[in-house]
Amino acid sequence: MTLKEALNRATSALAAHHISDASHDIQLLLRHVLQITQAQLYLQLEEELAPPEWERFSSLLERRLQHEPVAYLVCHQEFFGLDFYVDRRVLIPRPETELLVEMTLDFARSHSAGRPLIIADIGTGSGAIAISLATNLINARICATDLSIQALEVAAINRARHGVDDRVVLLAGNLLEPLPETADLIVANLPYVSAIELQRTGPELAFEPSVALAGGPDGLESIRLLLHQAHELRQPRRCLLLEIGQGQSEEVLRLARNHFPEADIQAHRDPGGIERVVGIAFPG
Ligand code: GLN
Repeated sequence: MTLKEALNRATSALAAHHISDASHDIQLLLRHVLQITQAQLYLQLEEELAPPEWERFSSLLERRLQHEPVAYLVCHQEFFGLDFYVDRRVLIPRPETELLVEMTLDFARSHSAGRPLIIADIGTGSGAIAISLATNLINARICATDLSIQALEVAAINRARHGVDDRVVLLAGNLLEPLPETADLIVANLPYVSAIELQRTGPELAFEPSVALAGGPDGLESIRLLLHQAHELRQPRRCLLLEIGQGQSEEVLRLARNHFPEADIQAHRDPGGIERVVGIAFPG
């Protein structure tokens, strides 16, 4: 069978299972098996696919038919222009989270502390946020925390891959508890999917760690605890940036204003027009 025939067969199989982006997904899987670029794939369409490669391709296709996300099948995901290793131990980084990184970079660049900034990434998962910040802020030190030891193993792989071992510290523990010092900036993409939403969403989310997604009955359990800890621990010095889900801004703004009446608190929209980040800037 040629590559072209394999692609056609697989694309029809996915389309028959109502999996969207079938052709895109299939090309990624085949490129992963053959370890080739998109351009090479186009040039080699008439070449034969060897039986062991067809077998590997078929087994990935089978997993995709069960709705396993492509990122887990090919073990990587692009985020903020960088390539991250991912597997089922971590949430797959989402494009909407790039807003959180952009806002953190803007804040960091416009508020120099006269010394290396200390940034905390809470619930780091794959380390995508922490490592994107470290590669773009060459003087900053990042403390990345996660409750999941398994997630931190993945973050360590990505930290080494991007050569920032010396500036990204990985810490196990609950939200802010493991932080060794006061951070200038705190950034967090915590689980915020509500119980009802979790049931409603498509089958793909079931493959991701629920500890990274499930935010309790209204989705805000972890965010509430983080705001409480931030208040108790007097963290951070400058600014706290939180990713939130659609429709959560009103309640998160209210919670934040209750805890920090003196702060400048605002919601910011993502490119899709959804209020996606709540920023809490502390005076002084
Ligand atoms: N944006 C993710 C989703 O809806 C949720 C990520 C999170 O809970 N932090 O799939």
